[in-house]
This record gives sequence, structure tokens and C-alpha cells, in this order.
Amino acid sequence: MLACDSCGATFADTGRKRCECGEPLWYVLDLDGSSIRTEERGLARYLDFLPVDELQGLGTGVGETPLFEADRLTVDADYDLFLKDETVAPTGSFKDRGSAVGVAAALERGHDAVGTVSHGNMAMSMAATAASVGMECHVFVPEDIPEERLAYIGQYGPTVVTVEGDYGQLYDESVALETGRSIDFVNSDVPLRVAGQKTTGMEIVEAFDLDGPDALVLPTSSGGHASAVWKGLRDLQAASLLEAFPRLYFVQAAACDPIATAFRDGADDVSPISKSETIAYSIANADPPSGNRALAAARATDGGVLSVSDEEILDAMDRLAKEAGICAEPAGATTLAGIDALSDRGEIGSGETVVGIITGTGFTEEIRTEVAPPEHVALGDLGDYLDRVGS
Ligand SMILES: *Cc1c(COP(=O)(O)O)cnc(C)c1O
Ligand SMILES: [Zn+2]
Repeated sequence: MLACDSCGATFADTGRKRCECGEPLWYVLDLDGSSIRTEERGLARYLDFLPVDELQGLGTGVGETPLFEADRLTVDADYDLFLKDETVAPTGSFKDRGSAVGVAAALERGHDAVGTVSHGNMAMSMAATAASVGMECHVFVPEDIPEERLAYIGQYGPTVVTVEGDYGQLYDESVALETGRSIDFVNSDVPLRVAGQKTTGMEIVEAFDLDGPDALVLPTSSGGHASAVWKGLRDLQAASLLEAFPRLYFVQAAACDPIATAFRDGADDVSPISKSETIAYSIANADPPSGNRALAAARATDGGVLSVSDEEILDAMDRLAKEAGICAEPAGATTLAGIDALSDRGEIGSGETVVGIITGTGFTEEIRTEVAPPEHVALGDLGDYLDRVGS
């Protein structure tokens, strides 16, 4: 069944994406007796919680990303920081979780093709996931998309369509026009994507024996992943598996922070803003389709939504690389900048356990962090060099 968390309306699963009230829908399944299939790998471990009968082989290489303590990043801090490293996903971001479930469902339901509205990670992820099962994929990008990004997406062989007109309206247009056609759009916060992406949150609490962490921090843009993490925890709770609910904190770039603005203002709803440029282009949605749901998640869990400057994001990227060995894109590093800000404000208590999700890799990006120039050595002087550094 599909349900609206805002007005409570429910719908049979006919592929509908939004409620009559305008809010996004998500799947509500009967989870009585559901369990995590610990003998399976990847997303297949959560099949009881997913709206598909099978993952068609798509789930095994997706999910089960590393979670590790990042103690060098918190030497002076009195809390324990763990990072959930989504940069190691097949196409470098958590989007692969949602794409796997979206494409598996499209196969199961007999669709001929999938589509997505994205010029970044979701486009790459959908194109790669569809390619892995031989399904047709249509990716709608803005006309001013950078060449390199086109190549990253195009290498997987989707049909890439540049769109003239207001790109911001394409999301709604695509899901309105797909009705009755055999193409399924798996956009940023549609029910199938949210179902797949909720597994990030489930894996995290599972690593803490379903009794922790105290706080969970991730960047937010459309609000899709934020809603999904909340939903994953709620599903585990509905299956009577979750012992304690973490506080959820969402981080935005200050140049484009409609959800953080609504949170700060105590507003009932998120209003669109006019954004300025940020290096964190993956989280620059000025009119987030799941903004209200993300806001509700932060409030319901006693967490929050905050914003950080580009300068703080750059610093976080540098520290993630140099102190934790993680190459994150700006959006992905926003998490660490957010955790620093929360800690400064005293929102993270002494002795608490915090998990930050590093959502995407920097391997497909220009390197913006400080890189020291190389040293130079003549072959005959190698021994001297090694004496110098090794003794
Ligand atoms: C898509 C994306 C986000 C934002 O996710 P939403 O579901 O749109 O809120 C954050 N980080 C990275 C790396 C992304 O690709
Ligand atoms: Zn509704």
C-alpha cells in the first residue's frame, strides 16, 4: 500500500507517486513478523521490508557499505563519531540503493524502460543499474550540463535528453506524464527510491544491535534520503526490532537551504527559496519535493536541520581526505561540517555516539582540497631520501 504521512491518505500500489494533497507517498507494508535476512547479502537482507518480490540479482552488489569509527577526526571531542561510507557504492553514492529497487520493480512490473530527472549521481546510478540488467534508460538533463558530467552518465549507454525550459518543473511533469505509459520514472523521492534508500538507515542501526546511535547526520536536498532513513527506522520499529530511535539531523549548504530555513523559522511547511551558487551542487534543490517530510522527520525525532557554508564544506572535504582517507564530493562532506556545527552548539552530548553518512564520492569531481606539490628525487639519491623519511 502507498501512504501519505502528511494527511494519512492511502492508495493501492498502482505506481502513483504523490498524494492528492501534493505530498510524496511512500510504501507502508505489513511488517508483522518481518526480519532481517542475515544470511543474504546487500539489499537482499532487507527483502521483507521492500515492495518487490525479488531484487532480480540487483541487490547483491549494493548496500552493506562500511561503517567505521573515525577517531582521528574527533581527537578533541567528547563524543564517538562513526562514518557510514556510501562513496564505495557501485556508482559512488547511496543513490544505487534506490536505483536497484526502482529497476527491480520496473522489471517485475513489466515496464519497458526507466527514466530519471537528474544531472548528477542519480543519473549515473540509474543509467548503470539499468545497463546491468539490459533495461532501457532515459535520463533528462538540463541544457547547460557540463561535458564531463555528460560523459560520466553517457558511458553506461542511456538515452540522454537535454531539456529546454524550466528544469525545476521537469520532476512533476515526468511523473504526471508517465501515467499509462510503460516507462517508470525513478526520481529523487518517489516511493520505490525511498524504499531502497531506507536501507542506509537500517544498516546503521543494525550495526549498533538496533540500539543506537544517539544521532544520525546526513545531507539533504530533495528530502528523499532523509525521509527514507526515517522510514527505515520506522519500519524496524513497526516490526518490533528497533530498541531506540536516533535523533535525525539533516544538513544543507547555506546557499540553498530551504528546509533548514523552515526549521529555524519554526514554519509548518518548507517554502521554495531563490538559491545562490554552492560547491555542493548535489544538494542544491531550492524547492524540495520531500522537504515537508524531512522537516517532519527532524522534528519527530528531536533532531534538527542546519546549514553550513561552502568554506566549512571545503574544510570538511579536506579533513575527510587527510584524516580519514575518504574522498568525498562536497555534498557528501557536508555531513562532517554539520556534525562540527552541532557539536559547537552543544547539540551532541558528551559520551554520545554519532553516525555521519558520507553520501557520495569525489572521484567524479574536480579536486578542490589542498594538494601539496610533489617532492623530487634523483634516482641516485633514493637511498638518501629513504634514510631521511625512514629513520
Ligand atoms: C542526491 C544526493 C544527496 C541528497 O539526497 P536527497 O535524497 O535528494 O535529499 C546528498 N548527497 C549526495 C552525494 C547525493 O548524490
Ligand atoms: Zn496527503
